[in-house]
Amino acid sequence: MTLGHIGKVYLVGAGPGDPDLLTVKAYRLLQRADLVLHDDLNPPAVLAVAGPQAVVENVGKRCGHKRVSQQEINHRMIEAARQGLEVVRLKGGDPAVFGRLGEEIEALQDAGVPFEIVPGVTAGTAAAASLGVPLTDRRTTSRVIIVSGHRASASEPLEKTHWKALAGQDVTLLIYMPGNDFADLREELLEAGLEPDTPAVIVSRAATPAQQQRTGTLETLHRLPPMESPAILLIGRTLAGARERLSSEQLSLTLAEAGLSVSAP
Ligand code: SAH
Repeated sequence: MTLGHIGKVYLVGAGPGDPDLLTVKAYRLLQRADLVLHDDLNPPAVLAVAGPQAVVENVGKRCGHKRVSQQEINHRMIEAARQGLEVVRLKGGDPAVFGRLGEEIEALQDAGVPFEIVPGVTAGTAAAASLGVPLTDRRTTSRVIIVSGHRASASEPLEKTHWKALAGQDVTLLIYMPGNDFADLREELLEAGLEPDTPAVIVSRAATPAQQQRTGTLETLHRLPPMESPAILLIGRTLAGARERLSSEQLSLTLAEAGLSVSAP
């Protein structure tokens, strides 16, 4: 912390929840940050990476009973930077994917506060990795669509056109915030021309020790059971090889076990 100088805000992707999936840059920034403002998605194992000097604050939507508004978060980041602090604004996955990054960038720019974006491993790629499948395949799948389930709901008629125009047999769909009721989505995707036997997998808490998944097809999509949040729905040909999750021993090779030591510069 250098008083008299303006600090900086790092908009950092923390990955899906496994601390080993933090980038080295995210890890180093967490270790030296003065203030960490994080979302609900970040589990204690990730927050534990923050150095002892760091003030760690949950500004997630469900923080206690009180909702922290986007405006309050922006204000907090800007004020801290103006006090000369180095701020890590920690978001689950990649900050650019459904992370309200645009609004935060705008606020920081308007306030003249320097910032930097640090990408992270997004839930969709982490989920596919845990299932042992690719997202594209030269032979079958040339497109990946990242979409929010909220927006894809049939209650918004515009989105029907959207699916017809976008979905097809050559697509892997990564549906974030999918909700629990897939009946409308199933109908729309069938209408859009996807084959009923297209594989569908819902992955809950991908890349954490609590990961669970259920596999089906587009035909049986409406029968997938509700899953613990956060969960992501993947649909497409490349999911055909989705395997049962690796044992937690295999998944949780720690940095130390891998012989890596990462220290703050
Ligand atoms: N920026 C995040 C997405 C934030 S939106 C990213 O890049 O991953 C929140 C949604 O992301 C959740 O509702 C869920 O659909 C998905 N998500 C985030 N972390 C997840 C995880 N560990 N497992 C499964 N889905 C996850």
